[in-house]
Amino acid sequence: MPQPIPAYLLAIAVGDFEFKAINDHIGVYAERYILDASVAEFEDTPLMEEAINDLYGPYKWGRYDMIVLPASFPFGGMENPRLSFLTPTLIAGDKSLTNVVAHELAHSWSGNLVTNSTWRDAWLNEGFTSYVENRVMEVLYGEDRAVMERALDRQSLSRDVAAADRPELTALKMPADLAHPDDAFSQVSYAGGMFFVKFLEERFGREKFDIFLRNYFDQFAFDSITTEEFLSYFEDNLWADNPDAVTKEEIDAWVYEPGFPDTIEEPTSDAFEKVSGQQRLLLSGDIAAADLLTENWSTHEWLHFINTMPDGIFIGLFNDLDSAYDLSNSQNAEIAFAWYMKAIKAGYEPAMAPLEGFLLHVGRGKFIYPLYRTLIENGRGEWAGEIFAQAKPGYHPIAQRRIAAIFAEAE
Ligand SMILES: [Zn+2]
Repeated sequence: MPQPIPAYLLAIAVGDFEFKAINDHIGVYAERYILDASVAEFEDTPLMEEAINDLYGPYKWGRYDMIVLPASFPFGGMENPRLSFLTPTLIAGDKSLTNVVAHELAHSWSGNLVTNSTWRDAWLNEGFTSYVENRVMEVLYGEDRAVMERALDRQSLSRDVAAADRPELTALKMPADLAHPDDAFSQVSYAGGMFFVKFLEERFGREKFDIFLRNYFDQFAFDSITTEEFLSYFEDNLWADNPDAVTKEEIDAWVYEPGFPDTIEEPTSDAFEKVSGQQRLLLSGDIAAADLLTENWSTHEWLHFINTMPDGIFIGLFNDLDSAYDLSNSQNAEIAFAWYMKAIKAGYEPAMAPLEGFLLHVGRGKFIYPLYRTLIENGRGEWAGEIFAQAKPGYHPIAQRRIAAIFAEAE
C-alpha cells in the first residue's frame, strides 16, 4: 500500500482463509466454515461505503476487504487499513450487528485518516468513528434503528462510567498518568465521544456540521492530532462564525470534566417504549412470558428488554422466559451476553452451563470483562477462576491481562 499509516494500524493475518468478493473492490476473507455466512451478513458494506462517500468525500485507500478471525479475537473489529479484522460474533444471521462493520469502515476517515497523537486523545478517534457509524446506520436502515443504537450506547456508557476505577477516566481527555493505553478504550471514548459530537451537530445544525467534518477529515488527512489541536481547529472553522451555539463552559464540561454533562442526548425510541410497555405487563403479572408480543422484535428490542429488567426479578420469570425464547442458548452473542449478565445477578442456574461454554469459546473483551467482573461480584469468583484458567490459553494477551487485573482487583 502506498499510504502512510501509524504503527498501531499495521497487522498480519495468517491462517487457512478463503476469499469471496462482494464487489470489485470489497470482499471477505474467512475460514471456509463461516465464509458464505460472512458474505451474506456483510453484503451491505458497499452501501455503507457509498453513504460515507456522500457525507465526507471519497474513500482514499483503494480496496476495502474484511477478514473474519477466530472467536478469541478480543475486539468487535480492528480497522487495519484496507483489511478490517472482525469478530465472528457479528454473524447473527440477520445483519443486526453490522453496525460494527459501519464502524470499522468509518475509521477509514476518522482514525485512519485523522488519528489521535496519544492514547489520552483516543476519543478523537473512537468518538468521531462511533458518530459516523451511527450516521451510516441512519442512512441505510432509517432513523429508528439509529436511535435504538444510541439508546443502547447510552445504557452502556452509564454502566462504564459507574464501573470506572477513578473519575479521571470518565472525561473525554484521559489523564496524564493513564496507566495503560487499553484503559482509554471504554465506552467513555466511544459512546461518550459520539454523544459529544452529536451535541455539536445539534447545536450548529447538521448542514454546517457535515461540511465542517468533511473539511476536518481533509485538513488532517494522514496526520495525528491532539484534543487541543482539534478544539483550536473547531474554534477557527465553526465556532468563530457561530459564537452563540455553545459556551466554553459547555465544551470544557464535555472534554475535561469527569462524567457527562446534562447536555447529553437521552435518546428516546418509540420501539423501545413499546417494549417497555410489554415488560411492565410481564412484571405486574398481567401477561405470561410466552404471550409477550415479541414477533417483530429486532435484536435491539431484545437487548432493551433484557438490559432494563430489574435485577431483583424472580427465578420463575427467568424460567418462563427461557422456556418461551431459549435465551440461555441464544446464538446472537449480544443477546446471550445481556441475558447472562442478568442471570448471574439473579443466581439463575440453568444459564451457567451455557455461560461457561460462551466464556471458553468467545474472547471478545466487550463481553467477557463484564461477565468475569459480575461473576466475581456475585460470589462466583472461584468458579470464574476455574473457567479463566481453562480459557486463558485461547484468549488474546490483551484479554489475559485485563481479566487477570479484574481478579487481582477483587482480592
Ligand atoms: Zn473503533
